[in-house]
Amino acid sequence: MRYAIFSDVHSNLEALEAVVSACKKESIDKYFCAGDIVGYAASPNKCVEIVRQLAMITVAGNHDWAAVDLFSLDYFNPDARDSLLWTKRALTPESKVFLESLTPVYQNNELTLVHGTLNNPREFNYLQDVSSAEESFLLQDTAVCFLGHTHIAGVFTRGSEGKISYSSQTLVKLGQGNKYIVNVGSVGQPRDLDPRPAYCVYDTQKKTIKIQRVSYDIKSARNRIIEAGLNHSLGNRLLDGR
Ligand code: ZN
Repeated sequence: MRYAIFSDVHSNLEALEAVVSACKKESIDKYFCAGDIVGYAASPNKCVEIVRQLAMITVAGNHDWAAVDLFSLDYFNPDARDSLLWTKRALTPESKVFLESLTPVYQNNELTLVHGTLNNPREFNYLQDVSSAEESFLLQDTAVCFLGHTHIAGVFTRGSEGKISYSSQTLVKLGQGNKYIVNVGSVGQPRDLDPRPAYCVYDTQKKTIKIQRVSYDIKSARNRIIEAGLNHSLGNRLLDGR
């Protein structure tokens, strides 16, 4: 099986379309989304619709739940909160029903999917160092867990002896007895100084995980954010990937 996993679309339609068309060219069997379909940018309903059409398995992100009153707006900084208030007004009843249906964790035989961390997944903590990875690994039953939330792609590896390491390398060959936490980065608002949308392909036959990037029309995405009346900084940050 070849799985495509992506996260943090954040209502950026142009970026999502670029990722989907890249995926269509490389025989993906199944799609997974690690949350935050909405928030920040200007196309929440279209992004929700694309996610639903792909029949993806999707877990809840903090923005998804906050947009339908399942998570407190107090968690967010002012820019994010303003964009969520805008998103709440823009969402159709159908989009709201979909976002309300999302659960925080998904697991099958081959992978686990969560937005932030496996420990207290409803609190949406950031997994960004070895000690937070260690806590999450303790609750991970599968060899690989995919997540997002930080918008920074990278891989934590726990060796069979328990030692944890981090790498931002884009191709990982899975080793017997190891466990992996793969942050697939962000489609709609990358923050690792590379403005190109990120997504991940997990090939269960080859036992490889590859984080990939695609180009897209950033200026159009930025302009639509500004035209929609959202904070200009939410558009401008896309240009720099921060
Ligand atoms: Zn996010």
